[in-house]
Amino acid sequence: MAAAALKNFTVEDVITALRNVLNQPAGLHEPTFSGNEWKYVKECLDTGWVSSVGSYVDRFEKDLCAFTGVRYAIATNNGTAALHTILLLSGVKQDDEVIIPSLTFIATANAVTYCGAIPHFADTEEATLSIDPEKLSRYLQENAVLKNGACFNAKTGRPIKALIAMHTFGHPADLNALQGICDRFCLTLIEDAAESIGSYYNGRHTGHWGQMAALSFNGNKVITTGGGGAVLTNDENIAVAARHLTDTGKVPHPWLREHDVVGFNYRLTNLNAAVGCAQLEQLPLFLQKKRALADAYNAAFSGLHGIKFFQEPQHCQSNYWLNVLMLDSDHIAYRDDILKAANNAGFRAQPTWTPVHRLTMYQGCPRMDLSHTNGLFEKIINIPSSPHLADKITT
Ligand SMILES: *Cc1c(COP(=O)(O)O)cnc(C)c1O
Repeated sequence: MAAAALKNFTVEDVITALRNVLNQPAGLHEPTFSGNEWKYVKECLDTGWVSSVGSYVDRFEKDLCAFTGVRYAIATNNGTAALHTILLLSGVKQDDEVIIPSLTFIATANAVTYCGAIPHFADTEEATLSIDPEKLSRYLQENAVLKNGACFNAKTGRPIKALIAMHTFGHPADLNALQGICDRFCLTLIEDAAESIGSYYNGRHTGHWGQMAALSFNGNKVITTGGGGAVLTNDENIAVAARHLTDTGKVPHPWLREHDVVGFNYRLTNLNAAVGCAQLEQLPLFLQKKRALADAYNAAFSGLHGIKFFQEPQHCQSNYWLNVLMLDSDHIAYRDDILKAANNAGFRAQPTWTPVHRLTMYQGCPRMDLSHTNGLFEKIINIPSSPHLADKITT
């Protein structure tokens, strides 16, 4: 029997599908504070422990380790600070190159630049929305030179030190393949897991593969501390160094106030951590709701031809941080009409980030062919993703 004929979508079909799932106006990703947030924050104010020392910071770090299974967590004041710390600790220096996807939030590239290093842009595959390992492997084979256990860009002569795998919209990158490339080309694997708390690759939480991983707890992420982040690592020495560097380079001592490097004031405050502890308690529930929302979208868009709801990659469990509608290549002309109609209907919809290699500051950086990245920019539409939206699903 032939499958039921799929009908080419109209913009009105897309809005109807959104309306069927959402029932009412919806932002892109809004936080939910329905747990112990008020109670824990009040306790900070009542006791005076509001700043960068306090029991909630310690507890938040312990709870992050328990949830992710990564041995050490060092809380920071945002995810960008966590990435900056990670790059410094992985030995990235002035005029080194670091491979990053061009399809990412600007913070990934900025953190590299803060070190005086240069982003080297890699293309993204549609299956995972993250770095295309096969294409990168072929590219490095032709464009990188290995000398005494170090990797160099054959064109620029600069060292290529590290690769940052970013888990786009919560969908895990192909970590085994990227790890293989890093092993082969002597690169340090770093995970920008800012979007992927609650996302698993082969049954293990993201953040386990890189020598270090960065989390973010910005207001639009799956859980928030207002602003916040964390460095994750399984290496005790790195954990000690990360704490030292993010804590102004202070020498641990019962009373002496002494610093032995130019460190950073990148610590998370107890107030922010208090919110984070309450949010982490609700994370399993948020993840369940986000999955229910994704399932509802998937069903609502399954009958349309030319557009689909993007589902988690094989062998992965995604947190579905930002939901994605993916246009077929022959339907990209509809993107802006859909964006306009969805926003007019009260449903926040956005294109994905303008690829970083196209931004003025980064146009001169080395890159491989980025045709898939450029294509994906035309095809991706982010749609409402807040966990509380699952409460309104009627079907
Ligand atoms: C959110 C995010 C960060 C960190 O952002 P902060 O706002 O500094 O916490 C880094 N990389 C990616 C990919 C992100 O989405």
